[in-house]
Amino acid sequence: MATTRKSYTPGDFELRVGRSATGLGLYADSPIPKGSCVIEYIGVEITKEQEEKSRSKYLFEINARKTIDGAPRWNKARYINHSCRANCEPNIHKGRVFIHAKRNIKPGEELNYDYGKNYFNQYLKDICGCAKCRPAKAAKAAAAAARVKKVVAKKKKTTRKSA
Ligand SMILES: [Zn+2]
Repeated sequence: MATTRKSYTPGDFELRVGRSATGLGLYADSPIPKGSCVIEYIGVEITKEQEEKSRSKYLFEINARKTIDGAPRWNKARYINHSCRANCEPNIHKGRVFIHAKRNIKPGEELNYDYGKNYFNQYLKDICGCAKCRPAKAAKAAAAAARVKKVVAKKKKTTRKSA
């Protein structure tokens, strides 16, 4: 019988931090097939009490007792922005958070997931820059990201030629 069990080991995908509509974002530099485990959301484990005092914007609640503060820069997943029409989704597995692709993702696409209703209502309701809420702004940012990618590709070629 075929198994459809999700993998919780991030695949070997090339991911890049780049400019997005809302500051920085995380982009796919290689194709990511639907259902793949893209990256783990890592960070420092904190308690409920610490969470209440924390001013971090990168808190991920695992359960009633445990929250991950993903603020450290070595947590590449912290660069993934919110979207109301996301191409990824977070899944909690054995007390850890993994980001999976909801659909096939092409190189150059920005990764995003839905941060959830509470976060949205608290922080994003009036300013969400995702493709669903602000199509024009999101399209402009995607075009800018594509231009940057072209320049990088050109540079790489030149370097290779002279080497
Ligand atoms: Zn939105």
